[in-house]
Amino acid sequence: MANADLSWIDYDSQHVWHPYTNIKNPTPAFPVKNASGCTIELQTGEVLVDGMASWWSAIHGYNHPRLNEAIKIQLESMAHVMFGGLTHRPATELVQKLIELTPGCLDHVFLSDSGSVAVEVALKMAMQYSSSVYKSSVKQKILTIRGGYHGDTFGAMSVCDPITGMHSLFTSVLPRQIFVDRPKTKFDGIWDESDFEQFETVLSKRRREICAVILEPIVQGAGGMYFYHPTYLKRVREACDRNDVLLIADEIATGFGRTGKLFACEHADIAPDILCVGKSLTGGYMSLAATLCNERVASGISSGDPGLFMHGPTFMGNPLACACAKASIDLLIASDWQKNVLRIENHLSSGLEIMNQLKSVKSTRVLGAIGVVELHQPVDMHLIGAEFVKQGIWVRPFGTLVYVMPPFCINNAELQSLVNGIGLVVSELD
Ligand SMILES: *Cc1c(COP(=O)(O)O)cnc(C)c1O
Repeated sequence: MANADLSWIDYDSQHVWHPYTNIKNPTPAFPVKNASGCTIELQTGEVLVDGMASWWSAIHGYNHPRLNEAIKIQLESMAHVMFGGLTHRPATELVQKLIELTPGCLDHVFLSDSGSVAVEVALKMAMQYSSSVYKSSVKQKILTIRGGYHGDTFGAMSVCDPITGMHSLFTSVLPRQIFVDRPKTKFDGIWDESDFEQFETVLSKRRREICAVILEPIVQGAGGMYFYHPTYLKRVREACDRNDVLLIADEIATGFGRTGKLFACEHADIAPDILCVGKSLTGGYMSLAATLCNERVASGISSGDPGLFMHGPTFMGNPLACACAKASIDLLIASDWQKNVLRIENHLSSGLEIMNQLKSVKSTRVLGAIGVVELHQPVDMHLIGAEFVKQGIWVRPFGTLVYVMPPFCINNAELQSLVNGIGLVVSELD
């Protein structure tokens, strides 16, 4: 049988770079045979309950018949054509959906191939807007809050947390942006107005240098799985307006229901000027991202010289990805996703809460379909991955954070397996 030949696994470990690994001494990568629903089956036969949704993206689970079908139908007419000078229905229909569903009046959409690129595009939009409208070569800096994560390309790295960000290696070549502390008030804490003072002071003092603020609304993801108070986001919106600075919301992780709202900006009832989506946009099937902007930004850029927006990836608007994204959004909207995310939230809340009794646990928190167990000490990635696999679950912590954001189709028994498995592995650390 073809499956009997597993020599590719050895080859992989010697030649294939995986995310953030040492190619000469990689953490082991478990070989996957297939994935369906909320489970991942390894070549070695184990079936794991998926706690990661493949990094926030597989909201409907794996091998979904409707998404498979959408791609097959699109494949019959074309896999791809260039987007320069040509257009097609899958892209236009997707853009229409995005404009309908996103907060505020974000009426113009730039499609790209990954989240990091969507962030680059957003930063470029803000910078081009600024040079067109203010005719200033100075008002080009970005203000952000510490603890953020916006991607691995250079522009995106420049606004990731300067210390805990994985990017301190490149400090000397990165553009220098402006950072303030992240909000101290937690999502469900009691809002304290003094929590906004630093942001307010820095923004008003340096408004002539700052063209935009970028942040992850409500949930800081890879930068620390931190949930902050919606009033902070409201204050950011007001301060940006007062100071003539654009607001970019990076909803690449939070978009499409993950936090219990369709977009995390809705927790604060605000709309950004520029919005990035990615990750779960295609239901985790393929790489696609989008940057949306409002009329102000679009006409500002267009009124400049030469008025063109200077970006255009080769695979822009890929029809397969667009068709898949539209099917994924349709599937989400037609489902009772709010009730479902609430079910996951309640289950994780009660399941993780009790882990606060463990000595190795610093705190636990849950928002929407995101559950976090923060430890006192960083985990050993080599060891802990195998421990979770032994428990029949797929969980991949980083640093002191053990966290899950499962596909929304996860059932209660599968959720309980995640909770039990995490409880067991974490209690062994005590
Ligand atoms: C993952 C992520 C990105 C980067 O997306 P890629 O598709 O990995 O390039 C940017 N911003 C946020 C908030 C993310 O979670």
